[in-house]
Amino acid sequence: MSINFSDEGPEQVLTTAAFRPEDATEASLRPKRLEDYTGQEKAKDNLAVFIQAAKLRNEPLDHVLLHGPPGLGKTTLAGVIANEMGVNMRITSGPAIEKPGDLVALLTNLQENDILFLDEIHRLNRSVEEILYPAMEDFAIDIILGKGPSANSIRLDLPHFTLIGATTRSGQLSAPLRDRFGVVLRLELYSVEDLRRIVERSAGILGVEVEPDGAIEIASRSRGTPRIANRMLRRVRDFAQVRGEGVITRSIANEALLSLEVDQAGLDSVDRRMLRSIIELYNGGPVGLEALAATINEEAVTLEDVYEPYLLQQGYLTRTMRGRCVTQKAYEHLGIAYLGQQRMDMN
Ligand code: ADP
Repeated sequence: MSINFSDEGPEQVLTTAAFRPEDATEASLRPKRLEDYTGQEKAKDNLAVFIQAAKLRNEPLDHVLLHGPPGLGKTTLAGVIANEMGVNMRITSGPAIEKPGDLVALLTNLQENDILFLDEIHRLNRSVEEILYPAMEDFAIDIILGKGPSANSIRLDLPHFTLIGATTRSGQLSAPLRDRFGVVLRLELYSVEDLRRIVERSAGILGVEVEPDGAIEIASRSRGTPRIANRMLRRVRDFAQVRGEGVITRSIANEALLSLEVDQAGLDSVDRRMLRSIIELYNGGPVGLEALAATINEEAVTLEDVYEPYLLQQGYLTRTMRGRCVTQKAYEHLGIAYLGQQRMDMN
């Protein structure tokens, strides 16, 4: 089989952690209980205690902020919390709430103890965010009636609710908002072992047989991200059905992933283009994120949120005050001779 790894090829989206329409079926793969939620042991241990304590006191859970790269299970975990607490969850997102009135309508429609899940909370606009402060702290909102000197404000009580905010960029949250979350949990990239368990569980739900080696192959190439692991599993399943006996073996997984331009290390064409540009155009770095994004024709936020976390974790890339640098490992991975990094800033 000939494999073309030219980085000019059509954009592969297999390893993009961002939600895509093809992931619409992922709801069926979402674990519902804490015990089925694989990995993230630290976050889970803490949550289990907070959930139990809140239930014992018969109170809603404190507000929770979940942060970490896309596809790691923030929405899923919010659903798990709602299930474990035995309450309803309403879902919305920062960009979906345009005006303060939209948020007021949402809040006043909540039932006692409900969970409001607010995805991409860093994208809330300021005037909406200000409604959240008293809502989170005092379970009340202040409504201004009238204009000018005759305006007066009335306070409207809200049901006790739990806000679960999710964000890929906690650094962009304003301090007053961040301070109002009693529980702040950071989700980490998953280990291959955790992802193997997720792949095997999802294969069971999808009704496809997967050999242990096949599951490990998918797990080790899904850049630490369950959403990507599940997406790869679906693609590999197609290969297994068409080219194989319907069973996902290691070699079927490998063949499928190579033809989708995901290499043995789990890097896709954008990853490789990013590393190659830093080497060929910026002498290995440092290069600023914006310049790099313009060079490879991607958005800076996409590079930062979706691609960088895995490249940093795997040691292909480092982040310095002056920009991004590739490591020797990146040269080796791309088969480019490493002559030692030239430090232009040395005097
Ligand atoms: P996020 O909200 O962080 O972008 P999601 O919660 O939408 O991520 O998760 C994406 C998919 O990954 C879900 O469909 C779910 O099936 C799967 N997933 C995420 N975390 C886990 C986990 N801990 N265990 C099993 N599956 C998971």
